[in-house]
Amino acid sequence: MRIGIDLGGTKIEGLALGDDGRELDRRRIPAPRGNYDDTVRAVVDLVAAIEHVTGASGSVGVGIPGAISPATGFIKNANSTWLNGRPLADDLSRALGRPVRLANDANCFALSEATDGAAAGAAVVFGVIIGTGTGGGLVVQGRLVVGANAIGGEWGHNPLPAPEDDERPGPPCYCGRFGCIETFLSGPGLSRDYLRLGGDDVPAMEVAARADRGEPHAVACLERYERRFARAIGSIINVVDPDVIVLGGGLSNIARLYDRVPALWGPCVFSDRVDTRLVQAKHGDASGVRGAAWLWPA
Ligand SMILES: [Zn+2]
Repeated sequence: MRIGIDLGGTKIEGLALGDDGRELDRRRIPAPRGNYDDTVRAVVDLVAAIEHVTGASGSVGVGIPGAISPATGFIKNANSTWLNGRPLADDLSRALGRPVRLANDANCFALSEATDGAAAGAAVVFGVIIGTGTGGGLVVQGRLVVGANAIGGEWGHNPLPAPEDDERPGPPCYCGRFGCIETFLSGPGLSRDYLRLGGDDVPAMEVAARADRGEPHAVACLERYERRFARAIGSIINVVDPDVIVLGGGLSNIARLYDRVPALWGPCVFSDRVDTRLVQAKHGDASGVRGAAWLWPA
């Protein structure tokens, strides 16, 4: 049995998978916000509850909203800030009496979809989460590419390629730079662009719904979004040349992206043809916790 834990800022979800990938148990608890020791204890209790119900013991993988510094083993870049600077993998391993694997939650998403999701069987998979941010993860031959700096797949803070005049320098980003891909392709980025084009201050999915109904500002906004997406993902295709790009997160529900972005990315890719497939995640929101479980491969 494999146990996956998704350590979110507001809730902690636990899942048990059988050897065939079938879900044996799933439960969630509120996250003890701001308290590291309580967080460790909550994960231990969640694992105990899963093992009690299933009557089996399992390997444990944990998805976190940050990364593990390869240099120190400490958590970094977590927006659940009480985890930062802590040796979470060591503390969980000690408390659970077994080795525990940790990975960034976008990496867990990519691993889940590459293992038994929308990209199952593909050799090179780039997973993208587009919601409040733009996370990414890279899986090659079934294995995560974490990288020397633990930022493998993190494309969101590259500058938007081939910016047009009105995209330079681009919106300010919390990372300290301007014109990051995330400032254009995230949900807030899409909303801001709609407002700029003369629309209202509404969430990204409402802009997409208005575009479906033919509202002119929303249509123009989505068309710009798709051209930007094609340029941003085209530069990824040039470097890692994935077989499949899987989209997750709220904006992955915009159905038109899967036809329109591939129709636009040809000129951005250094190839006479592009056989990369752009697909929607199969496991949706469950991919984070499933990928955490798959951190222990067969
Ligand atoms: Zn940035």
